Amino acid sequence: HAKDEGRDCYRYFTSVLDETVQLRRQIEDDLRAALATGEGLQVFYQPEVASAGQPVIGLEALVRWQHPTRGLIPPEQFIPIAEETGLIMPLSEWVLRQACAASRRWPDLFVAINLSPVQFRASGFAEGVIEIVRDCGADPRRIELEITEGILLDSGERAGDVLHVLREAGFRIALDDFGTGYSSLSYLRQFEIDKIKIDRSFVQPLGRATGTDAAAVFRAIVTLGRALGLTVTAEGVETEEQKRLIAAMGASEMQGFLFSRAVSEDRVAGLLSRLNGRAQADEAWSPFTS
Ligand code: C2E
Ligand code: MG
Ligand code: MG
Ligand code: MG
Repeated sequence: HAKDEGRDCYRYFTSVLDETVQLRRQIEDDLRAALATGEGLQVFYQPEVASAGQPVIGLEALVRWQHPTRGLIPPEQFIPIAEETGLIMPLSEWVLRQACAASRRWPDLFVAINLSPVQFRASGFAEGVIEIVRDCGADPRRIELEITEGILLDSGERAGDVLHVLREAGFRIALDDFGTGYSSLSYLRQFEIDKIKIDRSFVQPLGRATGTDAAAVFRAIVTLGRALGLTVTAEGVETEEQKRLIAAMGASEMQGFLFSRAVSEDRVAGLLSRLNGRAQADEAWSPFTS
């Protein structure tokens, strides 16, 4: 009967709900334990290259969590839980310290670090970042802080002040996943931003028959960014064809699996010599230089 079915349905959903709640609580506990020891957590680094000649110019720090029983959990799964539970604060500080310490190994490169809106809202946030970076002996001018449009939207006026303090200290500010959020163009003038990273959803269709709209949007963002004096980076570059189109449309930097996935700190040196060696070889063989 309908009534019974309804009851079964209800039971089914509450049990699924219980499982979800339990799983989240489990992840929360395990993440707290991981943070206490640092065990299982790692910062990986993905290169960003200059469109011209493709030498590596920077590395984005991306957190990895090898869970003791569940295997590798992607940040998109545990960052939201960390944000809801407040664990994002110690997690972010841990990532920042790791990345700053590591950055001293690559004096010619910038290191990019992702910031959560939750951190951004905390009072004394900018001062905290400045102190940690100083504490690690890192140079703020070689650190890029990646924020998302949501930060600008929900912390309004204060966001401008925070960005100002950070930029005065020497940090560069990048607007991540650009094009996916509200993409209010006035943000780009209103806030002190140095760089926009065009989201990979605009990059992926490039070169495909269905990619003409994405190409038009991509081109418009590049034109706008350059007119405002911003650095424009393309995220998620996976093919030679995308690389060629992006360079032709005038984005000055690229990042994506075509160059490399994020690798552990120990593998960065090897990666740099491989990528920079190839960049030099390309230049030597370029049809334009001969
Ligand atoms: P994001 O900041 O936009 O980072 C880029 C993501 O795209 C990374 O995923 C990277 O591995 C992936 N990616 C790079 N190139 C390609 C490509 O060519 N194709 C495809 N399909 N993907 C590509 P990841 O490492 O899984 O991180 C996902 C998101 O989690 C990040 O997106 C960022 O929002 C967040 N995240 C990662 N680490 C941290 C962190 O330390 N703190 C905070 N607050 N967020 C982080
Ligand atoms: Mg990022
Ligand atoms: Mg991004
Ligand atoms: Mg992204």
